[in-house]
Amino acid sequence: MTLAERIKDKAVELGFDLVGIGPAQRSVNAEAFESWLAEGHHGEMAWLERDPARRSDPRAVVPGARSVISVGLSYYAGEPDPQYWDDPLRGRIARYAWGRDYHKIMPRMLKQLAEFLEAESGSEISSRVYVDTGPVLEHDAAASAGLGFTGKHTLTISPLKGSYLFLGEILSTAELDLDVGATERGTELSKTNDAGRVLNGTCGSCRRCLNVCPTHAFPAAYVLDGRRCISYLTIELRDAIPEELRPKMKNWIYGCDECQSVCPWVQRVNEPRQDDWMRCEPDIYAPDLFELMALDDEGFIERFAGRPIVRTKRRGLLRNAAIALGNSGCAEAIPVLEKALQDQEPLIREAATWALEQLRDEK
Ligand code: SF4
Repeated sequence: MTLAERIKDKAVELGFDLVGIGPAQRSVNAEAFESWLAEGHHGEMAWLERDPARRSDPRAVVPGARSVISVGLSYYAGEPDPQYWDDPLRGRIARYAWGRDYHKIMPRMLKQLAEFLEAESGSEISSRVYVDTGPVLEHDAAASAGLGFTGKHTLTISPLKGSYLFLGEILSTAELDLDVGATERGTELSKTNDAGRVLNGTCGSCRRCLNVCPTHAFPAAYVLDGRRCISYLTIELRDAIPEELRPKMKNWIYGCDECQSVCPWVQRVNEPRQDDWMRCEPDIYAPDLFELMALDDEGFIERFAGRPIVRTKRRGLLRNAAIALGNSGCAEAIPVLEKALQDQEPLIREAATWALEQLRDEK
């Protein structure tokens, strides 16, 4: 067995769903990334501006890097019950946050893989492990390693596992046999898997994700204007959400999966993962909005400790919950929002004021 094959076997043994190896070279989409930044599509995510050249070339991060091992872990946990998912008095949580924070799970697995690589390579190598927090264009790396192809919604789609994927990388100086990837956006992935099956993948003429986006966040295929994306608005944006976008958020309160859930490649995936760190339960994927509005700082931490949701802090989540109540059309929400007008946090008071205006206008 070659070293590359042993690495892939080990990755599967550790629990990864996808693994591939791509070259450590400047991303073919580096210029597109720089134009995207120049257009300001990253909004307030200022860390993306830091040293874009480094982000586009693994050799600037690990001098002498030759290979990028890309891994994917599916977070598809099953389908939510429409009784809860479509209830306007419950807030939708994006699928990736239905469980424990993957930053507490993936880096440990990847480090074990990097240690295995080091032990097996027989010579001194240097490697670095990243799970979406480092300077790596992870979707480009995944496509170059043959994990899948980049969809028009800019996410990686595996013909086997869909696009509900956590991605991670090991940048390494080890010289490994490379997979054939679909590097350029719009190119078709065509590779043979171990069972000899040819995996073809492309968006073709489909535009479902671009058309379904409630906030029209895609100015073109393969271009996401982060400033309009509900994931950005509900998670990354620390200030008030632009008023014209609030009604379009409906009951999304943490992230959004609209563009992925309509994708035919995703709809083919029907094997939910069985790990207990990812759960498909109503109180996890669609919590009661009145309960959320009643949380104080302590209650928020108690309820969401260890989950990605702590990222927004209480102020962000209750801002989003108040907006969802404003979109609910339900007069029962009025007393809850009136109470929020007394909240110590101005961001929550502002969202509650807006929400009350919506409900009173409807009345
Ligand atoms: Fe591609 Fe259609 Fe999926 Fe969008 S919905 S990523 S266009 S296949």
